[in-house]
Amino acid sequence: MVLEMESVSIKNQNIGMSLGIKTVTVIGSGTMGNGICHVFAQNGFNVHMMDINQAAMDKALATIGKNMDRQIAKGAFTEEAKTNALGCIKTYTSLEEAVKDCDLVVEAATENIDLKINIFKQLDALCPPHCILATNTSSISITRIGSHTKRPGQVIGMHFFNPVPVMKLVEVINGYATSKEVTEKTIALSKSLGKVPCAVNDYPGFISNRILMPMINEAILALQEGVADITEIDNIMKLGMAHPMGPLQLADFIGLDTCYSIMNVLHMGFGNQKYAPATLLANMVQAGYLGVKSGEGFYKYTPGSKDLVVSERFKK
Ligand code: NAD
Repeated sequence: MVLEMESVSIKNQNIGMSLGIKTVTVIGSGTMGNGICHVFAQNGFNVHMMDINQAAMDKALATIGKNMDRQIAKGAFTEEAKTNALGCIKTYTSLEEAVKDCDLVVEAATENIDLKINIFKQLDALCPPHCILATNTSSISITRIGSHTKRPGQVIGMHFFNPVPVMKLVEVINGYATSKEVTEKTIALSKSLGKVPCAVNDYPGFISNRILMPMINEAILALQEGVADITEIDNIMKLGMAHPMGPLQLADFIGLDTCYSIMNVLHMGFGNQKYAPATLLANMVQAGYLGVKSGEGFYKYTPGSKDLVVSERFKK
């Protein structure tokens, strides 16, 4: 099993090399960035982790180490492979240094349109001409980001899912100007990471969030209207539809601010009232009840406890 894992890593590295991708820079080392660095390093790529915040990168390296320990405990990885993988990762606070010799950038910085446009303008000026510029955005238009570069054919969405080392899907999003060659390379690369790529076109929310977020918003509307309580809504979707998590628990896990911002992208992008975010969602975000990340959303989270406890605010 372990030998198999190592040979998979070598094989994948060869696929990366055959695609002309050896060095990958990951911008942003938060929830998603650390997982993206993890899977590229595990598959033998040179990984340049870049963040404006050194403390975030220190935390990301510790998280990667802990997550690899879990893989070792399950017999899916070895100590030696862990040492090799961690040895593939270098950290940078200078964007220029991080990208000067890279073949692919995966941008996973904060979900903010102005911030991403600014990063892509700099990437366009600093990266080698052959470099592919991918973004892990959950909702921002790839076409719009690409239009701020002189290489829109090389700009693509590479949308990983949380937790990245575990989740199989990569939603590959073609901007209007993305070249066929870049799409094909991104699909082959995603497969080499052991993922299942699904190619989609650039419309608000792509496919994943166009379908997921209205379901979450509808669950919040049902709660707001008093159709059922939190536990009932989540249990109905878990037990009746075989969802591993109910929509309200999932909203807490994703972050209610993220859900709100994606609903706003859908609402504005399609101009259709059916995508209007629930007032309860807007209120909770404005009051700072963001779910797991703030300690309370639909449920209350206590460090060290795995119990699912409904927030007192929703108890009658
Ligand atoms: P996060 O807040 O956990 O991390 C963002 C990181 O970006 C932080 O460490 C921050 O210091 C860094 N950063 C901010 N500005 C930067 C800059 N100019 N240069 C370099 N680093 C910078 O965010 P996240 O949840 O990891 O989300 C990152 C991206 O991934 C977003 O576009 C988000 O929409 C997308 N995404 C998130 C999820 C999820 O479940 N959290 C899932 C899929 C996609």
